[in-house]
Amino acid sequence: MDSVGVAAAAPDAGPGPAWQSKCPWGAPSTTSISCSLADVMSEQLAKELQLEEENAAFPEVVAAAEGPFITGENIDTSSDLMLAQMLQMEFDREYDAQLRREEKKINGDSKVSISFENYRKVHLYDSDSSEDEVDWQDTRHDPYRADKPTTTPRRGFIGKGKDITTKHDEVVCGRKNTARMENFAPEFQVGDGIGMDLKLSNQVFNALKQHAYSEERRSARLHEKKEHSTAEKAVDPKTRLLLYKMVNSGMLETITGCISTGKESVVFHAYGGKSATEDKVIPPECAIKVFKTTLNEFKNRDKYIKDDYRFKDRFSKLNPRKIIRMWAEKEMHNLTRMQNAGIPCPQVVILKKHVLVMSFIGQDQVPAPKLKDVTLSNEDMKKAYYQILNMMQQLYRECNLVHADLSEYNMLWHDGKVWLIDVSQSVEPTHPHGLEFLFRDCRNVSQFFQKGGVAEALNERELFNAVSGLNITADNEVDFQAEIEALEKMNEDHVQNHGKKLATFSSDGDPPIYDE
Ligand code: ADP
Ligand code: MN
Repeated sequence: MDSVGVAAAAPDAGPGPAWQSKCPWGAPSTTSISCSLADVMSEQLAKELQLEEENAAFPEVVAAAEGPFITGENIDTSSDLMLAQMLQMEFDREYDAQLRREEKKINGDSKVSISFENYRKVHLYDSDSSEDEVDWQDTRHDPYRADKPTTTPRRGFIGKGKDITTKHDEVVCGRKNTARMENFAPEFQVGDGIGMDLKLSNQVFNALKQHAYSEERRSARLHEKKEHSTAEKAVDPKTRLLLYKMVNSGMLETITGCISTGKESVVFHAYGGKSATEDKVIPPECAIKVFKTTLNEFKNRDKYIKDDYRFKDRFSKLNPRKIIRMWAEKEMHNLTRMQNAGIPCPQVVILKKHVLVMSFIGQDQVPAPKLKDVTLSNEDMKKAYYQILNMMQQLYRECNLVHADLSEYNMLWHDGKVWLIDVSQSVEPTHPHGLEFLFRDCRNVSQFFQKGGVAEALNERELFNAVSGLNITADNEVDFQAEIEALEKMNEDHVQNHGKKLATFSSDGDPPIYDE
């Protein structure tokens, strides 16, 4: 990526003061005829830095120039920050590459060498750190830290004497306006203006923005097919930044697109990249499950996690954001248990906040079909049934888990077998509603296979007993359910009295016994 034959920029369009003060080796030479891509990028970096400084100096200029478009529903301001951060990361990488070149040039064959290590901006994160709180050690560009409180300058200018700059400075405003064109919807063509030192007047900018805005509205109306915009909106700027970091660090090669948008999560496909550590292998294809940070849907799911003793002590203290992360964490732990038991399921790659990266079930970007969408031969159908019966038993006995959302929607058919997915809501059998969840799972599975023509398929009550090893004898649904609830109640009482969850359900139909 060295020389790309780009003509050198005219000296007067060169880097401004911000560049010179931040650059450890001064202004680039203007004598060369062609310059590397890195040089071009660096000039943009200079502009970016300048913009950043201007922003800090004149926070209210933004509001003034954006005029009537800032409304409560206008989310552009946050993605403004994100875009800047994404650009910054790109620049940082280029910057480091440039540093390395400089380092080499200066050191040459000399015995004494100097290092620019301290000036480097991108530091590979430690992919081993499973501590989800410790995300990417590079705190200099931590996107999660609270924004600096923006103070309104008391005077409308900064600087002294003839260097004074007012907030209405044409050049400053113009450049900012140009940069802000990036906020327009992606379909809105802004040409190359962003990359040039173009100064848009407020008037022109506002006219453009008005146009871009109505275009966006119009095309949104045209695309009645909601899927796409929903997927896009579901991923908030912070999440996008998180995903971007995964790509930027090289852990993921590319994120190719969205596989699914559900009420609670959005799943993306990605090609795996290189691991920072050698012992860990990133699968060639990955699925990225992003747990939605809008809480509405999760409220209904409280009962899964609130009563899960594994999370009990933490639940009450957590803010909504952390609860979402806990769902992701639960899915990771549950998948790991299943993996250890040899149940076909996605393999966990990494968990970062509410984003879970796992191996992709499928091939060449095509996800394996759900059991509900695939037409199996009678033989495969029967094979699938016995495999699931087996997996449910393993899940219960070896993993000490009940799936709690098991159905043909959460089973994929791949490589001639069934794979279990979507286990964020899975609980242990002694969860206050664990057995009810298991019974529901059994009903779904029984009905699916009975309808699918598998004559051997047990009915839901038989399946429940076969999986749990319990021997509930009721021969009708109502009584059966009543017995299940009685068992759960006994377990609860035990917990109340002993304060500990050490219960296991006995396998011979007696009331639960408790290991202590
Ligand atoms: P939700 O809670 O939204 O149902 P899921 O975990 O079931 O979340 O994922 C939604 C969909 O995304 C699945 O039905 C499946 O089609 C796809 N999917 C999820 N994980 C994977 C994976 N590891 N490999 C391939 N496809 C996946
Ligand atoms: Mn699902």
